[in-house]
Amino acid sequence: MKTLQHDDKKLIEEVIRDCDICFIGMADTDGTPYVIPMNFGYQAGTLYLHSAQEGRSISILSRNPRLCVSFCSDRELLYQNEEVACSYRMRAKSVIAWGKVEYVEDFEAKVEALNIIMRQYSNREFKYGAPAVRNVKIWKVELEEVSCKEFAAPYKRN
Ligand SMILES: Cc1cc2nc3c(=O)[nH]c(=O)nc-3n(C[C@H](O)[C@H](O)[C@H](O)COP(=O)(O)OP(=O)(O)OC[C@H]3O[C@@H](n4cnc5c(N)ncnc54)[C@H](O)[C@@H]3O)c2cc1C
Repeated sequence: MKTLQHDDKKLIEEVIRDCDICFIGMADTDGTPYVIPMNFGYQAGTLYLHSAQEGRSISILSRNPRLCVSFCSDRELLYQNEEVACSYRMRAKSVIAWGKVEYVEDFEAKVEALNIIMRQYSNREFKYGAPAVRNVKIWKVELEEVSCKEFAAPYKRN
């Protein structure tokens, strides 16, 4: 088994689409890290998230808008000998990406972002109440740097 680095955009998007949450990492200006799980939507290299208008994450991002996001799919626990700890492996595909948060303020653009988020979870079409759209904070992150690795990939495959 080996670790593979992938550059194939289609495979990277498959990993992202297979996930139901992502982990958003932020860094406060004093260096304190902060990582939270979030639901998300993804379209054409851009990540969309939604949150309340205030909170620790919004406060950190007001000081440092850069974030790191990680996704992990296709996890499978493997072992060669059940009794030998160092023979255990976790097969998985993982994507890490970096970008800078911008907030979407335009009403129609917020609705479109909510649609992109909902498409990650459902094929239905949704309508949103105007107060809900106004109250929600929409994060838009163009992913600038993306890394994809596959762990414990079988040797027989390239
Ligand atoms: C599966 C999943 C999906 C989620 N999806 C979303 C989403 O799409 N949008 C969204 O806004 N939130 C989502 N959340 C909640 C999210 O993880 C944060 O809790 C939330 O966004 C509030 O973050 P905040 O920085 O404003 O926290 P604040 O409300 O300011 O938090 C105050 C304190 O609570 C603690 N805290 C905050 N969040 C967590 C946490 N997740 N776990 C443990 N302790 C915590 C920290 O100590 C923090 O300092 C999701 C949570 C889970 C488990």
